[in-house]
Order: sequence, then C-alpha cells, then structure tokens
Amino acid sequence: MLIDTYGRIATDLRVSLTDRCNLRCTYCMPEEGLQWLAKPELLTDDEIVRLVRIAVTDLGVTEVRFTGGEPLLRPGLVGIVEHCAALEPRPTLSLTTNGIGMARTAVALRNAGLDRVNVSLDTLRPDVFQTLTRRKRHADVLEGLHAAREAGLTPVKINSVLMHGINDDEAPELLSWALGHTYELRFIEQMPLDAQHGWRRENMVTAEEILEKLSARFALTAEEPSERGSAPAERWLVDGGPATVGVIASVTRPFCRACDRTRLTADGQVRNCLFTREESDLRTPLRSGAPDAEIAELWRAAMWGKKAGSGLDDPLFLQPQRPMSAIGG
Ligand code: SAM
Ligand code: SF4
Repeated sequence: MLIDTYGRIATDLRVSLTDRCNLRCTYCMPEEGLQWLAKPELLTDDEIVRLVRIAVTDLGVTEVRFTGGEPLLRPGLVGIVEHCAALEPRPTLSLTTNGIGMARTAVALRNAGLDRVNVSLDTLRPDVFQTLTRRKRHADVLEGLHAAREAGLTPVKINSVLMHGINDDEAPELLSWALGHTYELRFIEQMPLDAQHGWRRENMVTAEEILEKLSARFALTAEEPSERGSAPAERWLVDGGPATVGVIASVTRPFCRACDRTRLTADGQVRNCLFTREESDLRTPLRSGAPDAEIAELWRAAMWGKKAGSGLDDPLFLQPQRPMSAIGG
C-alpha cells in the first residue's frame, strides 16, 4: 500500500505522459519560452507501463489517469492504455485532455480499454477561447467532446477554470450547455501552478462566487457528503437532479485530508502532492536494472513523507518549481 504518516492511502495514480501542449492556456503556460523535457529524459512507453504495473500489482493503485501537458500528443498513448487495461486487477483508466485530436482517437482509445475522459473547456465563445488559450482550436475541442461521448467514454466530464474579466460571466451558460449535451461540468478554482508564477489569490474566482453565479439561474442542492468520498469535487444537484455540477475548490476548501493521489511525471519522478517541492526519482533505478520490489519500496517511501496539506494558506508558501503542465494536472 501507499500509505502516509497521516494514514491516507493513495489508490489514484496520475501519470503525466508529456509536458508539451498544443494550447497555451494563460493560467497554465506562457506564450513561449517554456523549456520542454528532452526526449531521453522522458520515460519510454514500456517504462511507463512497467511503473503502472508496479503501482497496480504491488502498491494497491486502482485508478490510473493519464494527463500532461496534452496526453493526446503522446504517439504511444493507445498502446499504453491497452497494456494498462490488461493488468490484473484491472485499474480504471481515464484521460484528462484538451480534446484536440480526440475526434480521431476516441474509438481507438475506447477499444484499447479507456473508461472515461475529462475534457477541459473554459468558454463557449471562440474569440474568448482564442484569448484564453492563444490558439484558434475551439471547434476542435467541441468536436473532441462529441467524439468522446459517441465512443462511450462516459460520463464525459468537462473541467472549466473561470478568470475574472475573461470568462467569469459564462458559468450559467456553460452549465446549461453541458446539461443539454449530457456532459458533467466541474469548475476548478485557479491554482498557483502556472509556469509564469502570475497567480494572485485576490484575482481568483472562488467557489463561493461560482456558486452564487450559478444560483442566479439554477436551484442547487448540495449532494450528501457521503457521496463525495475522496473526490475533490463537491457536487450539487441541479434543479433537483439527477444532473449535477461540481466545484473543485482546491484553494478555498482544500480536500487534502481525504487525498488519495500519487503522481508520476513524464520523466519518472514520483510526487506525493501537486504542491510539493520534493520529488523522488524512479527513472534512475528503473534504468539501472532495479527489480520491481526495490522500485515499489522507493515509491512507498516517497508517499510516506506526504505533508498534511498543500500549504497554500501558509504565508511562506512557495510554488513548486515545476508548473502544472509538467507535473500532470
Ligand atoms: N492538457 C490537458 C487539459 O487541459 O485537460 C491536461 C493537462 S491540464 C494541466 C489538466 C487540468 O488542469 C485542466 O483541466 C486545466 O484546466 C487545469 N489547470 C491548468 N492550470 C491550472 C491552474 N493554474 N489552476 C487550476 N487548474 C489548472
Ligand atoms: Fe495545455 Fe492543458 Fe495547460 Fe491548457 S491547461 S496549456 S491544454 S496543458
């Protein structure tokens, strides 16, 4: 098991497949100048599958989510999914993506064993999308979402980050549109994980603000806390349900006490928290011929030292050196 000193057990593994991306969301990446990982630093497909196998068969991981950067940019993605789906016990497999290219690969991913996807979409307006992501790819994302649903990668969830003066007026439209398309919408508070270190607490659209905006158009009823488990999203029934909307209040209502995550970066470093500044290297032992048992032990040790919380409320909080795109969001 991956247990820490506070008794939390990590069963949910986030694997970053690449730090690269075809968008440049302003809350995530700068327009240019970000240094990419060099190819030899990246884990190979086989190395990723081996580490996932160790996590699943030796360390009790039951859920694996592929992310990045943009995971659909990884050429070997379908093969990685296929190998992970063949593991015993079979983990749940999901993908967090910006949706670009999904229209081409959704069926292949489903056939390979992918269970679900989360697609990021912050706006319904193509011009706002271009301002926010610095790319003209809005239609590709909508097409990707549609393809994911048609391929049965359901429930298709949408992640939205709101920013003041850009798309914060869109919360009700986004929800109404998502409900109409049977997508499950979740808003995420903006976190200090951008490569440019431009995040300011006072500029962030808070969960409270989001709920206020939604309540102007919809009747929201809080879901029973027992339904939440370790899920970071607090969910509300919309107009009596069964449809729901989620809010991930990572900053104002952190869920660290129930955290069940462990993370692997594209260059083979284990992180026990999104916000930690420490990483544990698995790539070097992996490439030096270490047996599975030794790698599993290093992974256990990395998780044992997990801190109680993200430290966001500490005035001395320092952003991690790596941005979200390199950690794997
Ligand atoms: N490229 C894929 C995507 O956009 O879904 C996967 C990686 S992205 C880093 C994962 C999620 O993190 C996305 O939903 C994105 O909106 C979110 N994200 C990125 N930077 C963020 C930030 N500073 N605060 C909150 N969420 C952020
Ligand atoms: Fe790319 Fe996702 Fe970051 Fe946007 S949020 S720049 S899509 S990695």
